[in-house]
Amino acid sequence: MTEFPASLLLGYRDFMSGRYLEERERYRMLAETGQQPHTMMIACCDSRAAPETIFNCGPGELFVVRNVANLVPPYEPDGQFHATSAALEYAVQALKIRDIVVMGHGRCGGIQTALDPLDEPLSPGDFIGKWMGMLRSTAEQIPSTAIMTQAERQTALERVSIRNSIANLRTFPCVRILEERGSMRLHGAWFDISTGELWVMDAKTGDFIRPEIAEPALSA
Ligand SMILES: [Zn+2]
Repeated sequence: MTEFPASLLLGYRDFMSGRYLEERERYRMLAETGQQPHTMMIACCDSRAAPETIFNCGPGELFVVRNVANLVPPYEPDGQFHATSAALEYAVQALKIRDIVVMGHGRCGGIQTALDPLDEPLSPGDFIGKWMGMLRSTAEQIPSTAIMTQAERQTALERVSIRNSIANLRTFPCVRILEERGSMRLHGAWFDISTGELWVMDAKTGDFIRPEIAEPALSA
């Protein structure tokens, strides 16, 4: 008997007899030719906001980095451990990905912590407190008066934080230079886990709007 979670093993079995079987050829080709994902996605660790599920993507399509509250830290070449920056470097420089999406979501626990920091850290390391500290000055600008409900404040910070992460993406020289040349596109998205609604950021205004979804043109 293995102690590996049984539900995962059952899921794997279904994957092998279902999706893997259907996409076997694609997996084989991806193994041979390497990955060429069209989009980098920076998403939250939240189990309800998995990009591959929401965008119905198959293997090889999305290069995904997930962290608490989908934050992009500013460019800091200081020799420290920077997981998100490492993924970004690989996506842009090695995989030549030219579309980057920062995807936030509703009811994000990380964002909630940024608005209302925990009285006591979850552990002596207080990794979440330090990580979410990246948003402290931004969170402090969200009005705490009764004019906004707690849910409104939370949604506001979830969306402001996406714009903040996109601004931080532009502090990375490789991203900034490519965007200035017109060959890099930065996008924001926000997914409402309770309704399934997707909102995307208007590049010009920074507002979040419901996107129009065009049917692909039928080839003759
Ligand atoms: Zn989250």
